[in-house]
Amino acid sequence: MSSALDTSVAAHATYEPVIGLEVHVQLLTATKIFCSCSTRFGAAPNTNVCPVCLGMPGALPVLNRKAVEFATLAAMALNCRVNEASIFARKNYFYPDLPKGYQISQYDKPLAEHGFIEVPSATGKNKKKIGITRVHLEEDAGKSLHEGFPDSEQKTAIDLNRTGVPLIEIVSEPDIASPDEAYEYLTRLKEIILYTGVSDCNMEEGSLRADANVSVRPRGQHKLGTKTEIKNVNSFRFIRDALVYEIARQIDLLESGGTVSQETRLYNSHEGKTYAMRSKEQAHDYRYFPEPDLLPLVVDEKWKAEIARMMPELPEARRARMVQNYGITEYDAQVLTVSKSLADQFEAAATVASNPKRVANLVQSELMGRVKARGTEIEQSPISMKGVAASADLVESGAISGKMLKDLYDLCFERGKDFPEVYEEEGRPQQSSDTSALEKIIDQVVAANPRQVEQYRAGKKTILGFFVGQVMRAAKGQANPQSVNELLAKKLG
Ligand code: ADP
Ligand code: ZN
Ligand code: MG
Repeated sequence: MSSALDTSVAAHATYEPVIGLEVHVQLLTATKIFCSCSTRFGAAPNTNVCPVCLGMPGALPVLNRKAVEFATLAAMALNCRVNEASIFARKNYFYPDLPKGYQISQYDKPLAEHGFIEVPSATGKNKKKIGITRVHLEEDAGKSLHEGFPDSEQKTAIDLNRTGVPLIEIVSEPDIASPDEAYEYLTRLKEIILYTGVSDCNMEEGSLRADANVSVRPRGQHKLGTKTEIKNVNSFRFIRDALVYEIARQIDLLESGGTVSQETRLYNSHEGKTYAMRSKEQAHDYRYFPEPDLLPLVVDEKWKAEIARMMPELPEARRARMVQNYGITEYDAQVLTVSKSLADQFEAAATVASNPKRVANLVQSELMGRVKARGTEIEQSPISMKGVAASADLVESGAISGKMLKDLYDLCFERGKDFPEVYEEEGRPQQSSDTSALEKIIDQVVAANPRQVEQYRAGKKTILGFFVGQVMRAAKGQANPQSVNELLAKKLG
């Protein structure tokens, strides 16, 4: 890193970082939050618009019930208290992609408050709770396009399809103590939201956007330092990297007698540095006031109960249950629950497999490595959970050896086909426990290695392993190791 960051380790250890995250998540409703325009991603620019989302004078917003249900479900999943009444407010600012001149959001009375997310703590087994200050509903703004159309060197185009798409903003307490913890928080948050099904959390399409607020203070000091806000970072890894850089920058600044100025910064992932973008606006700059065209949003007990019934089993609870039900490790459970669909597939497979633990083991030992080697995720594996279960049963019954399974998995990845299909294509191979064929091989191996036979007979029993290896090689891995051991011991005896 640059010399500006070379301050002594000791100086850095006397400061602690304080981080708070603001995450925007787009809700998967079919229509926008205050009108019936479609929310579909990728439509031709400015085709999903109407007088309401364009902010034409006299057009009146009508709240989308589904957006409220999704937001409430997400808030409940994040352990928030849902307010019986919340208030929409106008947040006034000028931006070319905000035709109304204000965004409808919620301010001093948000939909939900006082939640938390649990993350693994840095010190060990216990979980750490990161507080969630609030979850509120708001509408998205449009999009300014700076490239990809004729004359884009000099001009910026505006696409208003996204204007009025429903969002929730999830604001954390400044409880996050390190860039790694921020990464964990975001990973958990995304996982929980995905499980609720209210968003696809697709960062490339902007369905999940996170801003990171960060300050530093001398260790032991209660008062928070001045923060900067890093905006528009498009991956969790980059957010972590940006925070590492920004924390070091702030400490160096303070150490050299400077002060941190409250500002919004951008992260350049190629350089690994943050840059000042603008000084931070204050809340009063937005001149928030209650939205006069919308009634207070009331989510009463009855509606809340209805929404609560839509709550699926969440990742944490599911992992605990899977460890319990299938005798798998925490770590296995973690890998198998990265998405709800993968966990569903595993459970469907595990219930029919004779030994679910072996299914989980094969995922770890044989599947993950091959998936990662291709630079993909487990969801893109050609071998499905059902396929893993089928292969696990074949090993379990002794029909195929571990070596044969590995070879078959390689073929699956080469051909992009699932296990049962490749197993058929290969003519349902079986490891041989056909002793006459095996005996022939063993006789040959014994005859070819007289010196080792002598050693064995002289008492060096450990050399049996050498013979097993030779026989397995000659049998191309297709022999049953147990039969090989037994027959060899008899021959050499
Ligand atoms: P603002 O008015 O600048 O938007 P908020 O108080 O609304 O600030 O907080 C925005 C986010 O910044 C929250 O996630 C909060 O936890 C975090 N935050 C607030 N103060 C600090 C601080 N001094 N250092 C780090 N994060 C902070
Ligand atoms: Zn519209
Ligand atoms: Mg704020």
